[in-house]
Amino acid sequence: MAQTFTQNQAIVEVDTQNDVELRNVVKIYNGEAAVRGIDLNVRQGEFFSILGPSGCGKTTTLRLIAGFEEPTTGEVFIRGRDVSGVPPYRRPVNTVFQSYALFGHMTVWDNVAFGLRLKKTSKAEIQARVSEALQLVKMESFARRSPSQLSGGQQQRVALARALVNRPTVVLLDEPLGALDLKLRKEMQVELSNLHKELGVTFVMVTHDQEEALSLSDRIAVMNAGLVEQVGSPSEIYEYPRSPFVADFIGDTNLFHGYVEATDPSLIKMVTEEGSSILVKPGDGWHGSVGNAVVVSIRPEKVHVSLESPNADNVFEGRLKHSMYLGTHVHYVVKLVSGETVTVSQPNRLGTAIATDEPIFVSWSSADCLALIN
Ligand code: ADP
Repeated sequence: MAQTFTQNQAIVEVDTQNDVELRNVVKIYNGEAAVRGIDLNVRQGEFFSILGPSGCGKTTTLRLIAGFEEPTTGEVFIRGRDVSGVPPYRRPVNTVFQSYALFGHMTVWDNVAFGLRLKKTSKAEIQARVSEALQLVKMESFARRSPSQLSGGQQQRVALARALVNRPTVVLLDEPLGALDLKLRKEMQVELSNLHKELGVTFVMVTHDQEEALSLSDRIAVMNAGLVEQVGSPSEIYEYPRSPFVADFIGDTNLFHGYVEATDPSLIKMVTEEGSSILVKPGDGWHGSVGNAVVVSIRPEKVHVSLESPNADNVFEGRLKHSMYLGTHVHYVVKLVSGETVTVSQPNRLGTAIATDEPIFVSWSSADCLALIN
């Protein structure tokens, strides 16, 4: 911990293990809050993603760290320093944009050298650093080309080199792969991950692509409507979502809305709006009581389909409405007798195909579903 002075000169404790820290940051545009009071800590060397649907405030948060925007209230610290009022070019961060933002009339080399020339860096050092940055992104042989002679993926590599040449403390990535087609996007994800490991620099990436966030990040902040709903590792976010929004946004899930009918330390009984009873093992954070509105989340891959009544603590009768053969897996949509619909993803081992409208059972363990307070 270190002490630092905020603008109003109050002494505050700052964790210097964090490269980026946001404290109760609010950003209001024309009377509307884009960011509604968020706290975030990004650790040194982390690959940190900000994930959420369009309009939830991701880009605004990144721009507040970059210095393109100032918070309406709250504080932003970079490596323990309050950066209020510090312009973007004086912050130890560089941003890579989805649109690349390269200068079309300059060569790749000059694009990467641009910032160093502005800072009046010596010729020898520019030579060494541009060459090193281009090497990192495997673009040395394209140094004399102009951006228009490059593919989208190559242009994004140059944009990365242009950020890395400044040796920033934090690289900010705003949907960096958003303009690339799926195949190239996958390739660039691997490269981005390798680059991050090689450099050990802190990356903060904004994305709306949950798969991208899950596969690349050490930790993810899931945002919804200007607030951070949960911060955690990819597996924490997927296995233990803390809100119905996070459960629904990350991966596929079945959500049942209802209320708590009974609860003890080892089991919750909830009743859905359609009258089904579901048993749930309470998770660590469970603090609900009888009568509370609750949402139960069960992932399709944790639900089983069978023709005979199985031995499980949650068993429901229904009829198969739809099945989709996906090679190793089969997806089923089952309509329960109660009227609810359940989607199931099951390894393809049932052997026999189930006919549409055939009576079947769906089941899952109380340990595999989560009760979330809305
Ligand atoms: P995201 O990156 O998650 O899609 P943004 O941070 O871009 O979301 O936007 C969050 C909200 O703030 C949106 O409603 C958007 O319209 C609004 N907003 C963003 N930037 C501005 C701006 N410069 N002026 C006015 N409203 C803005």
